[in-house]
Amino acid sequence: MKLYPTIGLETHAELMTESKLFCSCSARFGGGENEHCCIGCSGFPGALPALNKKALELIVRAGFSFNCEIARFTKWERKNYFYPDLPAAYQVSQMERPVCAGGFLEINVSGEKKTIRLNRIHLEEDAGKLTHEGNRSFADYNRTGVPLIEIVTEPDFHSADEVVAYVEKLRQILQYADICDGKMEQGSLRCDVNISLATIENTQAGKLGVRTEIKNLNSIKAIGRAIQAETERQTDIIESGGTVVQQTLRFNDANGEITPMRNKENAHDYRYFPDPDIPPVVLTEEELKSFKAALPELPEVRMSRYTAEFGLSPNDAAIILGDKNVSDFYDDTVKIYNSPKTLAGFIIVELLRRVNLGEANMKSLSFTADDFAELQRFVDEGKVNRDIRKDILRDMLESGKSPVQICDEKNLWIKEDAGAVEAVIDKIMAANPAAVEQYKNGEIKVFGFLMGQANKELKGSAAPATVKNMLEQKLKKA
Ligand code: ADP
Ligand code: MG
Ligand code: ZN
Repeated sequence: MKLYPTIGLETHAELMTESKLFCSCSARFGGGENEHCCIGCSGFPGALPALNKKALELIVRAGFSFNCEIARFTKWERKNYFYPDLPAAYQVSQMERPVCAGGFLEINVSGEKKTIRLNRIHLEEDAGKLTHEGNRSFADYNRTGVPLIEIVTEPDFHSADEVVAYVEKLRQILQYADICDGKMEQGSLRCDVNISLATIENTQAGKLGVRTEIKNLNSIKAIGRAIQAETERQTDIIESGGTVVQQTLRFNDANGEITPMRNKENAHDYRYFPDPDIPPVVLTEEELKSFKAALPELPEVRMSRYTAEFGLSPNDAAIILGDKNVSDFYDDTVKIYNSPKTLAGFIIVELLRRVNLGEANMKSLSFTADDFAELQRFVDEGKVNRDIRKDILRDMLESGKSPVQICDEKNLWIKEDAGAVEAVIDKIMAANPAAVEQYKNGEIKVFGFLMGQANKELKGSAAPATVKNMLEQKLKKA
């Protein structure tokens, strides 16, 4: 009996708002313990909540980005549970009337397109953070009340690869739309994975197995590993004649183990009830229109701009789009110097290499897009030798100086002084009589060696074509 996995995902994304969902405390990551707290988000009775408008805009933005239906009437409920990470003993969440319903996301897994349906996206509060030391626990409520959207899929995945492709795409869209920073390692994006197994026939007939839910996975790697481990665990249970228990599980990233957290609650265990302090919201057409107008350019739109308008290959475009910081930087350089192809090449070949080596950080570059574009313009206009482009870039990274400054100081401008080029070539030929002899005997591969020697001496002050022509002529006459 071959068992087939079915997976559904619940993704929590913290919104990029300045303040919390129902009070004016800072929603920023970090800060000293319990520094971003007031009586409202600390759960004191009597503090009245006021909905953060920006959070509402961002969830609507998510709805537009994922093709959802946006509710014109939406409201909040209290989800009750008692745990030290939740000082009010209830979380404000949405049950009956979420802001977004339905929707979908298209993914690409090894060349095949697949549509993942969304069930809903709702707006709720985050809980606090607990840390444990020996037999003592500490509660930090800075995160309590930070606005969170929960994006719930239908059980449409059947492999870890599909889930990974979905999370990567989802994260990219959230980042491009300025909805969530997508920092999984800081917990601003985390996933709960629901898994069940059934035979392929039952799966196709919609008769899914009992599911378990693995909570709070905070890296793409952990998601892949947890799905693998849980699929194996359930397979063992079923194949040895047992039944899977519906429960909530924890995945231990350190040893890859799955352990039970608690038996799965059903919705009625939470005693959801309307929050009497938070009035329902009616979204008007004008509001939706203004939210739509403020929607940033999504990655797919940028992709077609890069390929259709700029003429980049889909592969190069995808490399640049892989990081929003890189893509934004690229757009800035093109605005300054309209040569999208050479600029893309410079970014991919030289800048990203430095980034990958850890020598440059896109978020704290020591030079501006202006400087970077200008250097490429000098190369394209034949003012600076292409071979030393990378050296000048390194200098810019280290010193923060502009390309003009560097070329002036180090005398790197191509000067096209034919006399100087000739003098250097004469000198090189005189110093390497054996190589010259070899060349005359038909061993043309030494040409590269002589050219290299000359370029070294000229330090980029002559255009490569000039050096090559002059050397060819001189060797012919030698
Ligand atoms: P809850 O809110 O109790 O976690 P939901 O019904 O909202 O439950 O479902 C949560 C997630 O579990 C959804 O992403 C859904 O697609 C997924 N899911 C539901 N049933 C199954 C199943 N049998 N196998 C795998 N995933 C499932
Ligand atoms: Mg759940
Ligand atoms: Zn507060």
